[in-house]
Amino acid sequence: MLAGREELGQRSETVRRANLSAIVRALHLRGPLSRSELVATTGLTRSAIRSLVGDLVAGDFVTEEAAVRLGTPGRPSPLVRLVDESAVVLALEIAVDSAAVAVVGLGGRVLWSRRVERPRGHSSLDEIVADLSHLAATARARRPAGETPIGVGVAVAGLVNRATGLVAFAPNLGWVDIPLGDRLAEVLQVGVPVGIANEADLGALAEVRRGAARDARDVLYVHAEVGVGGGLIVDGLPLSGSAGYAGEIGHMPVNPAGRVCHCGSVGCWETEVGEGALLARAGYPVEGGTAAVAAVLADAAAGRPEALLALDHVGRWLGLGLAGLVNILDPSRVVLGGLFSRIYPFVAGTVEAELDRRALAAPRGLVSVVPASLGVDAPLLGAAEMTFEPLLADPVAWLGPRMSLVQLASA
Ligand SMILES: [Zn+2]
Repeated sequence: MLAGREELGQRSETVRRANLSAIVRALHLRGPLSRSELVATTGLTRSAIRSLVGDLVAGDFVTEEAAVRLGTPGRPSPLVRLVDESAVVLALEIAVDSAAVAVVGLGGRVLWSRRVERPRGHSSLDEIVADLSHLAATARARRPAGETPIGVGVAVAGLVNRATGLVAFAPNLGWVDIPLGDRLAEVLQVGVPVGIANEADLGALAEVRRGAARDARDVLYVHAEVGVGGGLIVDGLPLSGSAGYAGEIGHMPVNPAGRVCHCGSVGCWETEVGEGALLARAGYPVEGGTAAVAAVLADAAAGRPEALLALDHVGRWLGLGLAGLVNILDPSRVVLGGLFSRIYPFVAGTVEAELDRRALAAPRGLVSVVPASLGVDAPLLGAAEMTFEPLLADPVAWLGPRMSLVQLASA
């Protein structure tokens, strides 16, 4: 049956929106590209790229500027660049020791950010919401008047139900079933969606998009501070589980004869490889925090046996847990974040040796273990990436009135 005219029109509009998404996503992830590079990246024709980039220029979402001639023959292809302030998101993070905020522009540039220390230990919802709301207000006061974020993303050290914004369990904050999403939406009053997700899941997203796993599609990101969390990327997509709770690898039972965990169980992986395990074995107070970790690393660099033995213990248990995870998940890249990236130089050899000894040869042979490259801000940057996702998937729906005008113009 022949499609009606209206149906064809709708279909071509759907295609156009998908093509705009491909272009905006390519520029967001890879930075400025020439039209020829956009042709190569998106698979669209040269004339389609010219027309769609024209629409984006008319909507002030991209600029085209003369490329620098690099001695190649022919006319240089102009460089297409996202206008980073054309759409911004507000990213927030609640870590165990700190809270952070960033205003991030389309394309991933951090336009303004701040991190403040906060006391470790249990905090009420009111206290955390007040801290985040203060950070958000400061961020917005430092940015041009009238700039409205298209969304707010929040990284939390806990189990988060993404659909409801409920923090189901955050042992290091002392939270059970806390409606963080609803409360933040109420207090921030930005009139845009507030998305909440687990910090390790978001760290994984950031490392895959902009960090140590940029070229990998199957990634295990392992993040440690007080607790240990994991983020899984499978064939390029985050694995979240049925509610968003997937990746709680810190609570993988590994030692039936081990210590009691924050979660109430015994012998979880984080009781052997988390910050507390390292500090206790090195002779420092378990609650010593990042200053005590720095002291352990200084001791180890000076060759002090207690610190070296503590790091050896963590390295061996880290390798043991990773061997099991590599056997199950077959990742091509394991990225070690947070505490693990700081201790990496001291434990890399032990971790590799344990993987050789314990993992199956076939997946072992394919995996590389690397330290994270985005540092402490990975979850915050991941919160920004999560918040940009709906815009990247359908720029026309999100770039609002400006794109509608363009749509009419080119219809
Ligand atoms: Zn546990």
